[in-house]
Amino acid sequence: FKNNDYLEQLVEQVNQDGAGVILTTFDELINWGRSNSVWSLLLGTSCCAIEFMALGAARYDMARFGFEVTRNSPRQSDVLVVMGTINYRTAPVMKRLYDQMAEPKYVVAVGGCTISGGPFIKSYNVVNGIDKVIPVDVFIPGCPPRPEAFYYGLMQLQRKMKVEHYLGGLNRSHAHDEEGNDTE
Ligand code: SF4
Repeated sequence: FKNNDYLEQLVEQVNQDGAGVILTTFDELINWGRSNSVWSLLLGTSCCAIEFMALGAARYDMARFGFEVTRNSPRQSDVLVVMGTINYRTAPVMKRLYDQMAEPKYVVAVGGCTISGGPFIKSYNVVNGIDKVIPVDVFIPGCPPRPEAFYYGLMQLQRKMKVEHYLGGLNRSHAHDEEGNDTE
């Protein structure tokens, strides 16, 4: 669904026929698929990323939620998951990765370091929150967050995706402009 030209045309035609209810149904169908097949780009810089590994193991089994596919290319990813301390040398790389992702794209900030700088908040080289660099959709606090907290955060992202109006022009409630700024 990255390239939705065909679907856009289809919806336009449906709208002209005055069948708005079908548009709603398409939206729900596509959002159901998108939210249960979320491909993630992992940016792990320190210990929160180690905790993330537990999600893929049998005890927590992230495949149940449709999050098991990770990608090493931003062009194939739906969500950027940032885990760990981001310093001023890493921040431009993170921004570039975000910029290379196709819309619709999402960001999840995992752990105190990512959200605010955490224990290193007073360090001269640590970014005090990645939301100062890229827009964040979900914050998952903790040092590190437990796997249950990870799941709660990822499920919040799924809830958000499910209520977006995807067809007929992406009308996200949390849209980003070309610079990656939150235009909500
Ligand atoms: Fe490590 Fe805690 Fe920072 Fe996570 S929040 S990267 S566990 S120091």
